Amino acid sequence: MSEVLVLIDAPEGKVTKPSLELLTIARRIGEPSAVVFGSEVPSQLAEYGAEKVYQLDDAVYADYLVGPKAEALSQLVADKSPAAVLVPSTFEGKEIAARVALKASSGFITDAVDVSVDGDTITTTQSVFAGNFTVDAKITAGTPVIAVKPNSTAPEATSGAGTVEAVSVDVSDAAKGAKITSTKVKEASGRPELTEAAIVVSGGRGTGGDFTEVEAFADSLGAAVGASRAAVDSGWYPHSFQVGQTGKVVSPQLYVANGISGAIQHRAGMQTSKTIVAVNKDDEAPIFELVDFGVVGDLKTVLPQATEEVVKRK
Ligand code: FAD
Repeated sequence: MSEVLVLIDAPEGKVTKPSLELLTIARRIGEPSAVVFGSEVPSQLAEYGAEKVYQLDDAVYADYLVGPKAEALSQLVADKSPAAVLVPSTFEGKEIAARVALKASSGFITDAVDVSVDGDTITTTQSVFAGNFTVDAKITAGTPVIAVKPNSTAPEATSGAGTVEAVSVDVSDAAKGAKITSTKVKEASGRPELTEAAIVVSGGRGTGGDFTEVEAFADSLGAAVGASRAAVDSGWYPHSFQVGQTGKVVSPQLYVANGISGAIQHRAGMQTSKTIVAVNKDDEAPIFELVDFGVVGDLKTVLPQATEEVVKRK
């Protein structure tokens, strides 16, 4: 079976859910080999099916922007001739992948939501124009390099050999073109990561800029907080919490939209959620076409009551 290289994102030694999803997708294509940078090899890699783990443990990968990581991954592609390279469709993942594809003269597909294989042919699916069209594509040149969107599949635990192979690469000076001078760690909110959360509670323009009720309800459920673009563009919530076509794609068990009208670009980021609930004071808001449960009312009244009820039942 052919090897599939999977670029792993594991901040502080914990593999992100999108990286675990990649291991699950890689198993459909061949034998997953995880590529991990740093001194730790998380046990989750073998638990989610990695047969091999290429560990690149050198300060250069933490000290510089993506150049050294891209060069190291390119070297692995040249040495191992894998069937495909999968990366998480994050800012960093896409930049690394683009450099790897260029170096290998390969085709590169971004933002795939599915990857399937038939014989030797790997087909990717992208969801475009806010989910109204799906595009199937295959890479016709070189090793397929594919960036896969978070929440494209559910990670499946399955044991792999997880054989660790230390890899050392002489990183060129050219790859060290941008050095990191300082890193600020965001203060932890204590809430789950938006794309990994089982429950997401979002607020839109209807919050009027005050997310207090949205956050309190989210905290009562142990949920992540999301925001519509209107809320983000108004400066009420940071862009990293935006859900939608130009934000993050979430697919939780439960999505609660508060004061969000349900524009097509917002739907693109949440419509695959298992259960959708909306609170909106306009009973004709388009979001109600999409929901499993809808509450017509003012979120400033509805959410505190819902929070109280959840807390009471704990
Ligand atoms: P509005 O559409 O103004 O809706 C506010 C809703 O709140 C209304 O339905 C109103 O009835 C309700 N409301 C008001 N007060 C209350 C209250 N007190 N209690 C309960 N309900 C109340 N949008 C995104 O969200 N994500 C994206 O990634 C995104 N990408 C975009 C990309 C492009 C290229 C474009 C053109 C647009 C994009 N948008 C995106 C913007 C999108 O078209 C909408 O403008 C946006 O989603 C609207 O946000 P909203 O629902 O919060 O605001």
